[in-house]
Amino acid sequence: IRSEAIKLEKMEVVSQLAASISHEIRNPLTVVKGFMQLMKAKDISEEAKEQYMNIALEELNRACAIIDDYLTFAKPFPEKSEPFPVHHELKKVIDMLRPLANMHGVQIVATLTPATVVGNAQYFRQCFLNIIKNGIEAMENGGALYVDVHVDEKAVTIVVCDEGEGMTKEQLARFGEPYFSTKEKGTGLGAMVSIRIIEMMNGTWNIKSEKGRGTTITVSLPFLLEK
Ligand code: ADP
Ligand code: MG
Repeated sequence: IRSEAIKLEKMEVVSQLAASISHEIRNPLTVVKGFMQLMKAKDISEEAKEQYMNIALEELNRACAIIDDYLTFAKPFPEKSEPFPVHHELKKVIDMLRPLANMHGVQIVATLTPATVVGNAQYFRQCFLNIIKNGIEAMENGGALYVDVHVDEKAVTIVVCDEGEGMTKEQLARFGEPYFSTKEKGTGLGAMVSIRIIEMMNGTWNIKSEKGRGTTITVSLPFLLEK
C-alpha cells in the first residue's frame, strides 16, 4: 500500500509539472496574441505599433526562457525510468553550457566519478542544466564552477559549487519558490523545476550560500528506487 501511495504521489508530481508547463507558456503567448490583434487596427500610430511590437518580442523571449527551464531535453514520448550513467549525462550538460560559461569568463572544473542511478536521464539533465546555469549566471566577473560526483554504498552525490554573488538569508529562504528571481529577465522557474525532478527521483538536496562568496548545491540520489 505504501509503495502504491508513493507511486501515485510521483505521478502527481509529473502531471503537475506538465500542467504548469503549458500554463507557463500559454501566458506569454496570450499576451503576444493580444498585441498582434491590437496591431491589426487601421488607425494605430507608428509609435504605438513599435511599442506593441517590442512588448510582443519581450513576451516571446520569455516563452523561450520558460521552455529552456522546463523542456530543453524534452522528447514527445518521455523515456521511462532506467539505469543511466550520471557522469555521462553531466558531461553532456557541461558541454552544452560551455559557450555560456565562456561568455561569463567561468571555468568549469568537473570531477566526474563514474556512477549509475535509476531514473529518467532527460529529467536529470534538465535538473542539472538549471542548477549549473544558475551557478554560471551568478558569476558576473568570472571564476570557477566545480562539479563533483561522490559515490558511497547508499547514494550518488553531486555537488555544484560556484564562486558567484551568493544569496542573502532572505533570498536563500525563497530559493525554489515559483517566480522568485533576482534577474532582470529571469523566469524564477528553473530552481523549482530542479527540485521537483530531485523529488521525483527520491533524492534529497541541500543548499548553502553566502552573499558575495558563492553557493554550493548538493544533490543525493539513492541507488535503489522502489519498483
Ligand atoms: P532564474 O534563474 O530565472 O532567476 P531560478 O529559479 O533558476 O530562476 O533561480 C531563482 C533565483 O535563485 C535566481 O534569480 C537567483 O536569485 C537565485 N539563485 C539560484 N541559483 C543561484 C546561485 N548559484 N547563486 C546565486 N543565486 C542563485
Ligand atoms: Mg535559472
